Amino acid sequence: MKLKKKIASLLACSLLVAAVPAEAMAYSVPETVRVGLESVCKGASSATIGENALYIGILWDGEFEEGGAVKTNGTFTAKPATGEFVVLESEMDLDEAMELAEDLTKMGYDAYAHYLMDQEWTVAVKDASRSEVEDAAREDASKKSIEAFSVTGGEVKLLLKEDALLMGGNADDTFKLNNKSYRGMLTFAVTGNTMTAVNVIDLDEYLYGVVPSEMPRSYEKEALKAQAVAARTYAMTKLGAHVGSGYQLCDTTNCQVYKGYNNEADTTTAAVDATEGEVACYNGSPIEAVFSTSSGGYTENSENVWWATVPYLRAVPELAEYNNNAWTKELTLDELSALLETKGAGIGKAKDIVITKLSTGGRVQELQIVGTAGTKTLNKETLRTYFSAACGSLPSKMFTINGKGGEIGQYGIETVVKTETPVKSGGLLAAVASKGIVAKTDGALSHLNGKKISVDVEVNETEAKKTVSVDNSNYEVYSVNISTVKDGRFVFEGVGAGHGVGMSQNGAQAMAQMGYDYEEILKHYYTGITIED
Ligand SMILES: [Zn+2]
Repeated sequence: MKLKKKIASLLACSLLVAAVPAEAMAYSVPETVRVGLESVCKGASSATIGENALYIGILWDGEFEEGGAVKTNGTFTAKPATGEFVVLESEMDLDEAMELAEDLTKMGYDAYAHYLMDQEWTVAVKDASRSEVEDAAREDASKKSIEAFSVTGGEVKLLLKEDALLMGGNADDTFKLNNKSYRGMLTFAVTGNTMTAVNVIDLDEYLYGVVPSEMPRSYEKEALKAQAVAARTYAMTKLGAHVGSGYQLCDTTNCQVYKGYNNEADTTTAAVDATEGEVACYNGSPIEAVFSTSSGGYTENSENVWWATVPYLRAVPELAEYNNNAWTKELTLDELSALLETKGAGIGKAKDIVITKLSTGGRVQELQIVGTAGTKTLNKETLRTYFSAACGSLPSKMFTINGKGGEIGQYGIETVVKTETPVKSGGLLAAVASKGIVAKTDGALSHLNGKKISVDVEVNETEAKKTVSVDNSNYEVYSVNISTVKDGRFVFEGVGAGHGVGMSQNGAQAMAQMGYDYEEILKHYYTGITIED
């Protein structure tokens, strides 16, 4: 029985009829993707395929074209099979090739049924002389250097190249690799004597396995739909991440976590289906739809975490966030001194941590560790990871130290102008307020990076109370100088988890609970985007 399984989706067709100017359509949504299953089988010398029936074929026009089927009583084993083979020149079907390979095996040869294309097979014999094989098989043969993998089980011995695909012969159309189940098709990218499993799969079926790995499946429907569009869009921008390795995406955080069939959930699958083909675009191209768990009240500009200023990755205030995302870390001066020594910082013993840059959102953008013999400046993600050996990485940069820094965890887009403690007349501003965020500091605010400010001064006999009003249409990073040391220790109190750029997942959940739909959620976090389908 010949079997043909349809894998294709109509994604590409639906794109062509979308009401978007042709010149803006600088992308097409792929039907299938090649996902390297690095977390299960990377650089391996063998793998178990937990099926007792397999179909072997190729992908032709988005469809699986079967070239043969095999069965075994137990499971199959895949191994790299790179080397010198004597390959028969005649073509035959799989059954004939298996029979001949079995005969040659009984004669002591390492013989395989070797898949060519369509329904065509031949026989390949490893490490043998051509004349010997020609005599034994009574066929013409030629010697070839082949980089391939073998699939064996019971009497079955197959030699397959990377363009050959395997499908499980079970009712779910899944296959089990090293005890994990996946939809779609399986092959192996072989490099010499190692191989990495590759799942060739419909893009949306891949997303079925991604979305529940990236966001809690219990989240609101609209939040899950926002995540589904973000995941689809993100996947499209990562397709070149593994060029040269035989696959486009991997299954780890390096691309997006993909755990396959057993990890799927009805809620997340429904979210993928409901947003089929939808992609978030900026100027007609898919955006790099980065996201993190929780921003702690205000998202972040891309350039404050990485390097490039990305127009749609702008800091925005959160309306609210789901859950209490608070955290605390403690560090003593002695522990900090020991850390500096371990790292060879060369600034002597630790004396203080001074916050030197603070954003409108209250996030610490730069700090200096002050030592007896110099200072060490930390910024971007280094600021989160630098202390890891002493007190663990900081979950976010939205924190205060001993209560000093910006006011954190403040939600809401209304402009709230606040003042901190009264400041001495003629002194530098001790507090600046914007969007409900107050810089709490006893130190000086050295400058405001060109931000428009107006100051009202109410003078009484002993002190001036200044109300600072800031043009807060733009997010800003302020230079500050806030000493934080207290009683020989530093208590970091923070909110949020992750880099804070793009969509906040807990913010998306809160917005969904407030009644916003997934398009509104995505447009809140990704400035100036459109949703295309
Ligand atoms: Zn990757």
